[in-house]
Amino acid sequence: MTVRIKVNVAGCVGHARCAAVAPEVYELDENGFNVTAEKEVPEALRAQAVRGMRACPERIISIEQEED
Ligand code: SF4
Repeated sequence: MTVRIKVNVAGCVGHARCAAVAPEVYELDENGFNVTAEKEVPEALRAQAVRGMRACPERIISIEQEED
């Protein structure tokens, strides 16, 4: 199974909390804005992806489970 992540990057304010707790999942640009608009990661990174989602004060990250 994979985990599909969506980030409404237009709403990102660039405080970089997502990548601070989940550096293998979320990518930031040089100003600290999330550039991960849509991404699939393996199940092994689910916990990290969820941590990053919860760390975002703007609530712009969503996570779905995909069947393989
Ligand atoms: S925590 Fe949220 S608002 Fe902050 S950089 Fe990450 S996605 Fe953007």
